Amino acid sequence: MITVKEALNHILGSISLLGLEKTDILSALGRVIGEDIHAPRDIPPRDNSAMDGYALKSEDTAGAGAENPVILNVIEDIPAGYAPKKTVGLGEAARIMTGAPVPDGADAVVMVEETGSDGNSVRIYAQAAKSQNIRYAGEDVRKEDLVIRAGTLLRPAETGMLSALGRSFVKVYQKPLVALIATGDELVDIDRAASPGKIVSSNSYSLAAQVMECGGIPLQLGIAKDNMDDLTEKFRDAMRADIIVSSAGVSVGDYDFVKDVMEDMGIGIEFWQVAQRPGKPTTFGTREGKPVFGLPGNPVSSMITFEQYVRPAILKMTGHENIFRRIIRAKLTEDIKKKKGLRYFIRARVKSQGKEFVAETTGEQGSGILKSMVLANGIIVIPEDADFVKAGSEVTVQLLDNSQDFTKDPEYLND
Ligand code: AMP
Ligand code: MG
Repeated sequence: MITVKEALNHILGSISLLGLEKTDILSALGRVIGEDIHAPRDIPPRDNSAMDGYALKSEDTAGAGAENPVILNVIEDIPAGYAPKKTVGLGEAARIMTGAPVPDGADAVVMVEETGSDGNSVRIYAQAAKSQNIRYAGEDVRKEDLVIRAGTLLRPAETGMLSALGRSFVKVYQKPLVALIATGDELVDIDRAASPGKIVSSNSYSLAAQVMECGGIPLQLGIAKDNMDDLTEKFRDAMRADIIVSSAGVSVGDYDFVKDVMEDMGIGIEFWQVAQRPGKPTTFGTREGKPVFGLPGNPVSSMITFEQYVRPAILKMTGHENIFRRIIRAKLTEDIKKKKGLRYFIRARVKSQGKEFVAETTGEQGSGILKSMVLANGIIVIPEDADFVKAGSEVTVQLLDNSQDFTKDPEYLND
């Protein structure tokens, strides 16, 4: 039996990056880009006005004020989206709208509020500093700049930037196809009426959802019966995927054949038990570099082991730098007793309380109690060597979402 840390090291050590594919920038959201993006041009492409007003020569406005306006000749009207045709000379101004290109000759814009229009002339009531209200070409991004580095997670800001740079398609890491095999004679699909002895294969769905949540594509291969033939057929089919994930049939019961099938198929087993609870019978192997996970069958065990092992593997192969959940320290609200030698993953509800976090377990922690996951927004991780953790102690928690900071009325709105 190996430790959680050893198991994770084995797994991550065997994961290589998937290839790249070209995709449109909106489909690339949430994925990792696999190419450096250099700016093909300046942004903004030209000097332009930050205000509606008048473009002029700042030296013309020397001494201007509310009582003694400077009067300039208006030579042109430049709406946004149009190129100026004239050059502004001494004693002249051009009416200009926000975003419109600044005409040659002008070195400042005076906003409309500081002017008065007089037909073909304008009164300027304020002195203008050089470059005032001008947004310069390249002040956002300069031509040739490295704007987005390969390995960056694409968020809406990057989507906007790519479009501004004229890129409609980019290369991102492929989404892994993740084959899911449920195993067990007792399992039926959701819509099959519950008959005696049968249960819904909920792992097929929780695991598919977990795959989707971290950017993979689930390939639902359905339910294999507890016999070598059926399992072998399903695993054969599964080998076309990038990752294979089965659940159940990995304990030491009479009908637990998954490990045997994996071995028969030439999948080199790297480990088949991990010192943890839940999830001890987790099995992992590779065939020609392809990772194969035999997760335990209990609904909580399969979800927890996916979280600890499959999720980081998927994120690593898709180019993510950030492959682990956010970790916080939280104060326990109750005592926890545990068995020495196993790392525990306890489902918890975490709340932020002032500058601290508090964590309360989600009740009954049996590995068949799926509700303990439904109620959880975090997983308390208790290391192997502990056998008792006292209420009030600080523990490590992996956050599954951001709900610990849930608020209906953001305080900053009242600042
Ligand atoms: P096993 O390791 O095959 O003995 O399975 C352990 C427990 O998990 C048994 O109670 C199974 O009924 C349950 N189980 C196995 N596979 C699934 C599944 N796909 N969905 C829900 N429960 C499952
Ligand atoms: Mg079984």
